This record gives sequence, C-alpha cells and structure tokens, in this order.
Amino acid sequence: FIIPDFQNFCKYIEEFYWKCKSNTEGKVASYIPQLARMNPDYWGVSVCTIDGQRFSIGDVTVPFTLQSCTKPLTYGIALEQLGQEVVHGYVGQEPSGRNFNELVLDYNKKPHNPMINAGAILICSLLKTLVKSELTLAEKFDYTMDYFKRLAGGEYLGFNNSVFLSERESADRNYALGFYMRENKCYPEKTNLKECMDFYFQCCAMEANCESMSVMAATLANGGICPITEEKVLKPDSIRDVLSLMHSCGMYDYSGQFAFKVGLPAKSGVCGGMLVVIPNTMGICCWSPPLDHMGNSCRGVQFCEELVRVFNFHRYDNL
Ligand code: GLN
Repeated sequence: FIIPDFQNFCKYIEEFYWKCKSNTEGKVASYIPQLARMNPDYWGVSVCTIDGQRFSIGDVTVPFTLQSCTKPLTYGIALEQLGQEVVHGYVGQEPSGRNFNELVLDYNKKPHNPMINAGAILICSLLKTLVKSELTLAEKFDYTMDYFKRLAGGEYLGFNNSVFLSERESADRNYALGFYMRENKCYPEKTNLKECMDFYFQCCAMEANCESMSVMAATLANGGICPITEEKVLKPDSIRDVLSLMHSCGMYDYSGQFAFKVGLPAKSGVCGGMLVVIPNTMGICCWSPPLDHMGNSCRGVQFCEELVRVFNFHRYDNL
C-alpha cells in the first residue's frame, strides 16, 4: 500500500477536518448570483490514493460546480490533443501576479497561463476550433463532459444549468476578456467568440462532489491513469505540464505562498472547491464555499497547511 497505515492516516485527516470546521472566516462568492445561495457551513474532504484507498468526511456527496477547478482539466485535454508546442503558442506559463479575471495579457499579448480566466477562455477556443473540428457545440460539450467523467472514474459528474445561465447573464468581465483577446488576435482563425464563451461557462458549470473530484485529483497524481478504473485518461507528459502550472499558478494570488508553505500542485475555484495533488501518492478534494480575499476556500487552505505540518508531503520535504 502506498499509505501503509491508512487507518491511522485517516484519523489525522479527521482531526484536521474538525479543526478546520470551526474556521468561520471568509465569504461565499456572490458575483455569480446563483453561487451566493450556497450554505457557508458546507465542508467536505475526500481522499483517494493512487492504489484506490478512499476516505471521506463531511459533505462529500453534495454537488457543487467546478468553476476554475476545470481549468487544469481543459488544459490537460488541450495538451493531449494538440501537444505542448501548439498549446503554448497561444498561452504562456507565467504567473500573472494579478487577479484571476484581470483584464491583462503578457508582453507577447498572450494570456499569462491557462489557470486564469483569460488563459482558460483561450484554451476553450483551442478545444473548439482545432480539436475534432467536425464536432458541433453539443458534441463538444458531451466530449468534454465524458473526458471529465473518465478522469473521475465514472463517478458523479453533472451540469448545473441555472449556474450556467446565471454566470452567462453576469459575465461582463469575462466577455471583456474575450473581446480584448480577439482585438489582440489571440485566438486561432475561425474562432466563434460567442460559442467559445458559452463553452467556457459550460465548463465552469460542470458539477462534481468531493468524492468524484478526489478521484480526478488521484488520476492527476497517478500520471493520468485513473486509480479506480485503471483507464489511461491523460498522458504522463500532459500531466507533467498540468501539475507544473497548478504548482506555480493554481491558487490565484496566493500561488507563491501556497507553493512555499504547502509545496503541492493545487487548483481552487470560486465554488470553494480545491483539487490537491500529492504526486505518486494521492488526490484530495477539499470543498467549503467561504473564500478568503484572494478567492481560495478558507477551510481548504487551512486543511492543506495542517496536512503538511504533520506529513512530509511538501515537494521539498524529503531532501
Ligand atoms: N466561472 C468563474 C469565472 O469565470 C470561474 C472563476 C473562478 O473559479 N475563479 O469567473
């Protein structure tokens, strides 16, 4: 077993869980009206090791929309289909040092990286125009959802139409980013911007729960092979790139501090979800809607900090 004394490990997870539960800091995201309805008390943690050991505690079967947690996944699909060179002809690898939805491009007039909104919208344009260009919008939606589902080992994956509609109705900034990138000729030729934005909002409104999302994280931890189904979903080369950028850019403006303190690739979303990857060991999903001022789940970040205080999971712990 990859974690020899799994029961004992789970006792610690439980202890961290209860410690973080009493943390009542943060505010539920409200700029997408439908998200503001989330109960701030929700708190769940699920663990899935690369040899398939599972542990869950709290609100682990309640569905939530993935939001920015889909950014590393769509990036992974793009790499798989187009290769690193093509993808990074359109988007950089540098932390932006700015808000996730800031109206800014890098000095090459490209989005800074695929983990912020501009980069993720651009990735959506690549998936939609270059990959399987014969597919209709509906087929692309199914194709992506099926991909996410395979990453999650066939476990819960849904789509929240009211969150999709709600976000699309209040997405002035994302549209501004979309147009700004068109003005700067960021997209592949023939990109239909309206369809690209719809596809981006649809990805954000895909739903999972802690349990299924921990399997996605475990698939990333396991070099792209789902530990539950043993299906090879992504290539190790793609995973390497995904984890590199999660490590440097996955936690918004806290990415540098998170890399320093926790030292693990992770990605958060405004839903309060966090995909946390311990390479070659396990995937973790933390979910709790209240966010700190950077946009990360307060309980989720605290949980990760507790975890590496006790276990030597930090990238540079074992030197
Ligand atoms: N749907 C959200 C947006 O585009 C995703 C951002 C996030 O989770 N930080 O604004």
